Amino acid sequence: MQEAGFAALDLDARYVTFEPPKDAGAEAVRAAEVLGLDGLNVTIPFKRDVMAAVDADAMARQVGAVNTIVFDTDPPRGYNTDIEGAVRALTHHDVTIEGTEALVIGAGGAGRGVAFGLANEGANVRIANRTEERACDLAEELPEASAFGLAEVAQLVEEADLVINATSVGMKADESLVPADAFQADQVVMDVVYQPLTTTLLRDAAAAGAQTIDGAWMLLFQGVAAFEHWTGRDAPVDEMNRALRNHL
Ligand code: NAP
Repeated sequence: MQEAGFAALDLDARYVTFEPPKDAGAEAVRAAEVLGLDGLNVTIPFKRDVMAAVDADAMARQVGAVNTIVFDTDPPRGYNTDIEGAVRALTHHDVTIEGTEALVIGAGGAGRGVAFGLANEGANVRIANRTEERACDLAEELPEASAFGLAEVAQLVEEADLVINATSVGMKADESLVPADAFQADQVVMDVVYQPLTTTLLRDAAAAGAQTIDGAWMLLFQGVAAFEHWTGRDAPVDEMNRALRNHL
């Protein structure tokens, strides 16, 4: 996806992966800077640790995780493009976020990004999570969110305009946390899971007539936002999307 973007803009750049030792996130950021890299993406389990080595922007500080670093200042700048990725996945599909009743299922890393993104855009956010305490902790960090366990999930889905699965359920297995008959035709349903692209949740939602948005859209737009931070250019979204979907 990133290299397709570089090629489309004729940028002489490569996107390569490194796997530092588990507790060496901040050290790896300093090493990358010394080696002259232009930027980094950061993934699990390093998204929190690297905050010690960067000047994180307000959104990344709010969510407590950095996934994108740019090495053109001292200290380097840190961003969280998962938040922007979730929001742009929806707005790209002309979904209105402000004023909607949004249900986020999941309170892990992806759930945090989605919940902060939707709350920042003015949605009324409800969070449902298997470990209810984790949903409560996240809801307390948001302006006006409420928290639930999974027992009430069918009822919560019925009351929502926008439903987002931000758990790993549905990944590689044909399962969903939402009963198929809870979906309605006037809803928008997004999954963060992108393997498979059409999860059981999305298949059930589409069968009920809901608008569905697969997990590759959030993955695409977090990458698009990172590309724009690194290059200062508008990302070639269509080329990046094509490369990502070919790969998936
Ligand atoms: P995480 O921090 O480990 O959180 C996992 C979440 O899934 C928690 O809310 C957990 O609930 C819930 N969960 C796991 N197994 C469950 C089960 N059997 N029943 C009910 N709930 C369950 O992981 P993450 O980083 O948020 O990633 C979650 C998924 O999002 C992964 O599939 C990942 O690939 C995907 N993701 C996609 C994007 C994208 O751009 N599309 C970005 C980030 C992540 P508990 O709190 O109760 O454990």
